[in-house]
Amino acid sequence: MSDMKDLGLGKIEHIGIAVKDLKAAEQVYTKLLGCKPYKREAVASEHVITSFFQAGPNKIELIQATEPHSAIAKHIDKRGEGLHHMAFVVNDIAAEMARLREAGFQVLSEKPKLGADNMLVAFIHPKSTGGVLVELCQKQS
Ligand code: ZN
Repeated sequence: MSDMKDLGLGKIEHIGIAVKDLKAAEQVYTKLLGCKPYKREAVASEHVITSFFQAGPNKIELIQATEPHSAIAKHIDKRGEGLHHMAFVVNDIAAEMARLREAGFQVLSEKPKLGADNMLVAFIHPKSTGGVLVELCQKQS
């Protein structure tokens, strides 16, 4: 039973993939996953446009930069296209951010931001997680 006060990361909410050309990547992933994207959404706070696929129980988020200074554009410049982040469901994002900061992880924002899918999100720097950018997601009620 899930207790809303439980701390710790929950299931993987989605996997984020950085792409240069959203339309081209949507075509590749439509073929790969055998299903079409169910929505596109711009996330103003991150200067990106995203496209979501639901493949069985798994959600995949393709992310394209809309501005050259977007973190996604910088990521692609440095590492090329590909796996960008893993997102986990959390029940209480503020409490998780505090717990992870306390545990020595580098939480990238002071407060949660509004992300895609009407979720509150926060990111943990890959330097503190073995090279993987981690996103925390809390569904807004
Ligand atoms: Zn994400």
